[in-house]
Amino acid sequence: MKPRVAVVGGGWAGCAAALTLAEAGVAVTLYEASRTLGGRARAVEIEGQPLDNGQHILLGAYEQTLQLIASLHPTATHDGLWRLPLALNQPPDFSLTCPRLPAPLHLLAGLLGAQGLGWREKLAAARWAYGLLNNTDTPDHLTVSHLTRSQPEKLNRLLWHPLCVSALNTPPDMASAKVFRDVVRAAFGGRNQHSNLLLPRRDLTSLFPAPAAARVIELGGEVRQACRVTAINAAANAVTLGTRNESAAYSHVILAVAPQHLSGLAAPIPQLESVVSEVAAYRYQPIATGYVQHDPDFRLSKPLFALANGPAQFVFDRGQSHGQAGLLAFVASTSERLPADWLDQAEAQLQPIARPGPPSWRKSIVEKQATYACVPNMARPAIRTAHPRIFLAGDYIAGPYPATLESATLSGVQSVNVLLEQL
Ligand SMILES: Cc1cc2nc3c(=O)[nH]c(=O)nc-3n(C[C@H](O)[C@H](O)[C@H](O)COP(=O)(O)OP(=O)(O)OC[C@H]3O[C@@H](n4cnc5c(N)ncnc54)[C@H](O)[C@@H]3O)c2cc1C
Repeated sequence: MKPRVAVVGGGWAGCAAALTLAEAGVAVTLYEASRTLGGRARAVEIEGQPLDNGQHILLGAYEQTLQLIASLHPTATHDGLWRLPLALNQPPDFSLTCPRLPAPLHLLAGLLGAQGLGWREKLAAARWAYGLLNNTDTPDHLTVSHLTRSQPEKLNRLLWHPLCVSALNTPPDMASAKVFRDVVRAAFGGRNQHSNLLLPRRDLTSLFPAPAAARVIELGGEVRQACRVTAINAAANAVTLGTRNESAAYSHVILAVAPQHLSGLAAPIPQLESVVSEVAAYRYQPIATGYVQHDPDFRLSKPLFALANGPAQFVFDRGQSHGQAGLLAFVASTSERLPADWLDQAEAQLQPIARPGPPSWRKSIVEKQATYACVPNMARPAIRTAHPRIFLAGDYIAGPYPATLESATLSGVQSVNVLLEQL
């Protein structure tokens, strides 16, 4: 059978896989259950504006994602993403900015120049960070709380633990120290620009999934939106996918669904039994995004601020990033039980930074299973499965990052490389 590949799932992993297949000249069909591409990083329309299911931020170290975006929009760095030097501003208690110096000197200078820390704390942070960047043997079972226990309480509260929550979406007492170390090393141990924060300037679907799908179609592939795969029949010589209306046979299939949706599709396939049971042990963490529309003349003094003393960790000014004047996006991660009035509390957290007056509308979107909890000793499956025609992709596949866009796109591209090697 001539290679004819189906990708199931049109999130960032599936779109990366479909694009890579189409670019390699392989016949590809992408199936996405929803009408909108992008999965957990997709556009939603609210009050007539293109918003996102969750405010996202990328790191300069996300090289695979940035390369894919740049391949589709040659001017992406200007009009698709806004690159900012790493800064954590939490008035009036804390601020840290990494200057444009070679890494890791930029982190050292950022820590030594931080406002809100005493000299002993700055030196403790610098010494500890240097040790972490050079550490290659963090035991698998350690949590971030273990890893940071020698650090002063103030440093953990203002810096290391908020970084853990924003990078791993997992509280420090549950989060894997090893994955945290790897993210810190990726951000601060390479080039200065790896630690940059990149804010999307457009909705997440039009940043990558939609242009990737358009390119797949241009290259002769097929993209089926609002088309859920309901059954998989995995034989030795082909894999047949069933949807509500039809079935089609493929030489190979890449399953790029979220881990929480894998068992529904893969449980009947005996060769995928062990993966399904590993993934069944995952726990999930929510992320809430609260949009608050103020007067269009209102803007924050910076595009984002860190927040303390309440459920939200960050506030973003979408007027500055997306041209949506007066619109703020509050983000609250890892709150197991988010209080019903979390957005009121988040607005109160803004008081030390700005007092914008009453909003004209507000909308909270809570993604209850935003990401898997990135815990120690987590079993993350490989791309190759025990069935020679079925491959996996998604942010939970074994890799250097936690549940992020970069894990998703890396696994999507790599799943195609593994599949092509096998042909
Ligand atoms: C609110 C929120 C905030 C986040 N913030 C950040 C951030 O700031 N930075 C960052 O890097 N990451 C962030 N993440 C994580 C990031 O969004 C995910 O890691 C990434 O989008 C996962 O992509 P994926 O393709 O692996 O999976 P998914 O996005 O889950 O894609 C799977 C796709 O499969 C489809 N599907 C499922 N079953 C079927 C079926 N039977 N047939 C056809 N299609 C099917 C689904 O509809 C979905 O589109 C955030 C996530 C959320 C929810």
